Order: sequence, then structure tokens, then C-alpha cells
Amino acid sequence: MVIAIASGKGGTGKTTVATSLASVLGPNGRLLDCDVEEPNCHIFMNPELDTSVAVNLPVPVVDMEKCSLCGKCGEVCRFSAIVLIGDEVLTFPEMCHGCGGCSLLCPEKAIAEGSRLLGVVETGYSGAVEFVQGRLRVGEAMSPPLIKAVKEKIDPEKINILDAPPGASCPVITTVKGADFILMVTEPTPFGLHDLRIAVEAVSVLGAAMGVILNRSDIGTGDVERYCKERSLPLLMKIPHDRTIAEGYARGELLIDAAPQYRERFVDLSAHIAELVRQPGESYVEAAS
Ligand code: SF4
Ligand code: SF4
Repeated sequence: MVIAIASGKGGTGKTTVATSLASVLGPNGRLLDCDVEEPNCHIFMNPELDTSVAVNLPVPVVDMEKCSLCGKCGEVCRFSAIVLIGDEVLTFPEMCHGCGGCSLLCPEKAIAEGSRLLGVVETGYSGAVEFVQGRLRVGEAMSPPLIKAVKEKIDPEKINILDAPPGASCPVITTVKGADFILMVTEPTPFGLHDLRIAVEAVSVLGAAMGVILNRSDIGTGDVERYCKERSLPLLMKIPHDRTIAEGYARGELLIDAAPQYRERFVDLSAHIAELVRQPGESYVEAAS
């Protein structure tokens, strides 16, 4: 099973939920940190990392000895990463998406494959939980290929928890695509509702079952709960604002360690999600605080 933890905006508690949910799964769980621009699950999981594999993207390298200056490579590239200017073919590797179209269409076979380092995929263990994270190279702008490399580590025999990047753009869709369940973490503020709406609209086309966790549930308005009711989104847990949890977070502790009464609730949450995946269609349910 693959459960993606997402949020319309940063700072809602997505990583707090992902790390505690993965931890209660023990040897049945695998946590994959797909927030490759700023992976932070490791702060709470303290994994021992034992492998680190570089992930590269193929980029064009032009042999001007063979080039006939036909310009077809520049015509096919949607990203202007290769252009014919005068009697030179210029390449801009940082803009290349690695589609291979230019090399495929070059009539002179003048384009060879170079590579651009995207980042690394690291694996290890946090106690009994298998841990995977991607780390994007500083200065690299394109994260989806690295996220796909992280997702190649999904183990079909385990319950895989994917910590998605915040927002609702390409990296989020790349992460949640193919998930059996998408768990949205939000907070009961106008910003929380606004960004939840956008994220729900963006990912609902994927057709996965969805649910919501309301973090700091006692600080705002009831608008998010009303929205969940309207959209028939199961509200699976409410986490009230709690100084003990905030202090634990600041120390880099898991929620279930800072506030042990949540351990059982996260066990119940994993069972509830498994039930929703088996029998989708549950509408709004009133979560206990
Ligand atoms: S590989 Fe694709 S994106 Fe990169 S330069 Fe060639 S056509 Fe453009
Ligand atoms: S398609 Fe090949 S031959 Fe034509 S301009 Fe590009 S590199 Fe040169």
C-alpha cells in the first residue's frame, strides 16, 4: 500500500504526521521522503543511512564535426535547451528535461548523451522502519526526476509512506501519482482552507481515495470542517494545538514520543486508511480531538 501525505502549503504538520505514521508501522513500514528540495523527515527519524546513489539526467552533447547545422534539434526542444545560432549549436544543460528528442531527430547522429547530476537517493533504517530520502543538488531546479527515483524504492510488500513536497505543483503530482491513498494535512485557517482546496482540486483527478487531518484544530474557524463535509472528505484525525507537541517538534522528537497518547491514535489511523483503501467511498466522519 502507498499512502502519500500532502498539504496545500508548508508548515501544516505534514512531516509530523508522516514520521509518526511510519514509526507506528515498525517493520511493516517504509518512509520515503519525496520532499527532495528540503527533506526533513531524517531530523525526526534519525536514520542510519547506508547507501547513497547519484541520480543523473541525460543532457545533449553536440559533436560539431558531424553537425550539418540543420536546426532540427532546436525546433523540437520545447524548453530552448538547445538552439542553433549562426554556425553554432548552443546547449543549456540546466534547462534540459532529458527527453532525448533532439538526439533522436538529429539526422547526422551528432548528439551524444552527457549527464547532469540531479541529486542523490539515500537509504537506511530508523529502528525497524526502512527509510529512503532524495536530496536535490543545491542549484538544481528540476525535482520530479529525482522524486521518481525515490519512488522506485517503493516496496509492494510494505506500507509505504510518501512525504510529499508542499503545494500543488508538478513535484506534488509526481509524488502522489499512483498512491492508494492521499492524506491531506491542513490547519483551520483561511490560508489552510485556501491551499487545501487547491491541493484537493489538483490531486482529485488522480482518483485516489483521500482523507484529511486537521492540525492545530482548535485555533481557527470551522470552515475546513465544513469544506470536508461538502466534499465528503473523511476527517480522520484532529490534533489540537499543544505546547508539549510544539516543544517536542522543536527538539526534533516524533509526535508519538512527545505525546505518547497519540501512538494508539496513529495505529488506528493506519487501520482506518487501510479500510478506506479496501472500501473507498466513506464520506465525512467527525474526527475526535
Ligand atoms: S533532451 Fe529534450 S529537453 Fe533536453 S535539449 Fe534535447 S530536446 Fe531539449
Ligand atoms: S539536429 Fe543535429 S545536425 Fe541538425 S543542427 Fe542539431 S546537432 Fe546539428
